[in-house]
Amino acid sequence: MTDSLSANPSRKENAVSTKNPQNDDTIIAKMRTLIDAIKTHNYAYYVLDNPELEDSEYDQLRLSLIELEEQYPDLIQPDSPINQVGDVPLSAFTQVTHDIPMLSLGNVFDYDDLSDFMRRVNDRLSDAQQNPEYEMELKLDGLAVSLKYEFGQFVQAVTRGDGRVGEDITQNAKTIRNLPLWLADAKDIKLLEVRGEVLMPKAGFERLNRLAEENDEKTFANPRNAAAGSLRQLDPAIAASRPLAFYAYSVNQGLPETIEMQSAALAWLKDIGFSVSAVEVVANPRAAQAYYESIIETRDDLPFEIDGTVIKVNSLALQQQLGFLSREPRWATAYKFPAETVMTRLNDIEWQVGRTGQLTPVGKLEPVKVGGVTVSNVTLHNFGEIQRLDVRAGDMVSVHRAGDVIPKVTRVWEDQRPKDSKPVTLPTNCPVCDSPVVLPEGEALARCTGGLFCPAQQQEALIHFVSRRAMDIDGLGERWLISFFEQGLVKTVADIYELHKHRDDLITYEKLGEKSVQNLIDAIEASKKTTLPRFIYALGIRGVGETTAQNFAQQFGDLDSLMTADMEALIETPDVGTITAELAYEFFRAPHNIEVIDKLRAAGVHWDAVEQVAADGLPLDGQTWVITGALDSMARDEAKAKLQALGAKVVGSVSAKTTALLAGEKAGSKLTKAEKLGVKIVGEDEFLGLVGG
Ligand code: NAD
Repeated sequence: MTDSLSANPSRKENAVSTKNPQNDDTIIAKMRTLIDAIKTHNYAYYVLDNPELEDSEYDQLRLSLIELEEQYPDLIQPDSPINQVGDVPLSAFTQVTHDIPMLSLGNVFDYDDLSDFMRRVNDRLSDAQQNPEYEMELKLDGLAVSLKYEFGQFVQAVTRGDGRVGEDITQNAKTIRNLPLWLADAKDIKLLEVRGEVLMPKAGFERLNRLAEENDEKTFANPRNAAAGSLRQLDPAIAASRPLAFYAYSVNQGLPETIEMQSAALAWLKDIGFSVSAVEVVANPRAAQAYYESIIETRDDLPFEIDGTVIKVNSLALQQQLGFLSREPRWATAYKFPAETVMTRLNDIEWQVGRTGQLTPVGKLEPVKVGGVTVSNVTLHNFGEIQRLDVRAGDMVSVHRAGDVIPKVTRVWEDQRPKDSKPVTLPTNCPVCDSPVVLPEGEALARCTGGLFCPAQQQEALIHFVSRRAMDIDGLGERWLISFFEQGLVKTVADIYELHKHRDDLITYEKLGEKSVQNLIDAIEASKKTTLPRFIYALGIRGVGETTAQNFAQQFGDLDSLMTADMEALIETPDVGTITAELAYEFFRAPHNIEVIDKLRAAGVHWDAVEQVAADGLPLDGQTWVITGALDSMARDEAKAKLQALGAKVVGSVSAKTTALLAGEKAGSKLTKAEKLGVKIVGEDEFLGLVGG
């Protein structure tokens, strides 16, 4: 314990002597609470591979205890876990005592800490040994394992365990694909001990968790826990199915005597058949900092997770001379990256309306530093994501931010959920314009239906309305339109046809010449004569592109029939599925939209009657079909289009009027109903014969 206190020279200087027993009791109580929490989390993390906190939060607990121990060294509890490595090994495995203890590493987090570390090394070296060369490696985020080879033959793999005793995981280690089982170049070495990290590459980790999710099994919190959990499987067949890799980082017994440097030892390991991570030799703190920063830049491109770099005195003789503290070597430390995943409270969820009407839930966080910046908002993307995460206001969540990627919620800590929390519900009305919100079945994205009216969507609606394929108002470009919008001259698309009343404003505010203004007014006037498909398209109903607008015009012949059509009738339109039908249905039910359409018509927007192509003479003319179940040869929409091309109406539900039911695989209630009503049932083969497919 005393030895470890000298690890941080400031520890004793900060010490406070307490002579007040009452005060002592309070401090001890604080220490005990922290000790209990750290022990519980150590067990969950190291033994069960199932952390109950993010690392940043756990580190905070440790830091609080370290600070208390520094201030009150006399009160340090005998069972303090501060100098402990890992946790007791799982008794299910044979326990093995390490020949040389496997320790952890100290941490530094910034350049000043790094310089301090180097200064502490210098303090222990003679004048001639000052400023030694250092070697830097990636800090691989897996678990430490010691491998033994006898005359080149792999004989044993043991986990770090509590540093003194680990678990014999030889059988599982044999299944790691890049772990050499035979080292021809070490066949003359009686005992070679190589230490390194077993890790799970990112791609394999994502695959494993996806599979677990599909099978409703527990997922792993991160690749490190996944690697640890896989390696410590009692069934080697399971371990074998997990994508693990081994990277060597030291030789602890049997290194050829000619090798005097850590960098040379790693080069030798690579030569004899081990995977080794990127290594750099550095002469001073600046060079070390440069390596660290270059690794931050490239870490996302690495196939595996790293949580920092490790800096080691390069000379093995100096390493020996510097020796160890109780938990870590004096000659090496981890230079860690800022945490990319942290925990914080999600105070509230707000809904924002985007330019296209989609409702985006935004999580309001208790501000927290993650990946080097403070984050207080996080997008939750859509209602589907909220349901998938089951996140609620008041929850503790993990927020992940890597590189420049936008922060996201990666985990909800349900066990820490406030008792009175309620599941999030979708707002029924738009928070901006109060129009109804729709969430079509099977969709994740909810939308505001006030397309033409909703202030959040107005700019987008205006730009779309005047565009070439819509009302084609030549000369009314996006820049002007936005400027008119900002001046308050146009709010909804109907206001465009009122612009002629603001001729003077346009000349004064917008600094347009008289001629330009006249040209603009003429273009707006000319656009009043349009076609029904263009007009429907110009309304900007979600999911209604040009083809659908054409089909609506054909199907209904005039605007009023389309506006009053029920869902069933909308679905009968070629190429219209339930989602588009629902969005169109709701669009024409929002009073504000109707108001804008009425204003447009009142302003003189008009079109020629649509010539509906008669289905007369087509083979299925007059027939009504329903499609159910899954078809092998095509999607249901495709089948619908084929039937419609032959003149049939395709509707959503079976009734006595239905001519035929096209029934694919797994047909359910519609098939039962059709059978009951005696409706003709057509199988896929018969259908293909009919449509000639
Ligand atoms: P560590 O992982 O921070 O550092 C020591 C380890 O680094 C070594 O044992 C070795 O396995 C590894 N390492 C990787 N690359 C290396 C290299 N090139 N050279 C040498 N060693 C290398 O220390 P630790 O004691 O294993 O664990 C502490 C970490 O575990 C902290 O990040 C802590 O937050 C986390 N933890 C979290 C919880 C939790 O509840 N979330 C609980 C316990 C521990």
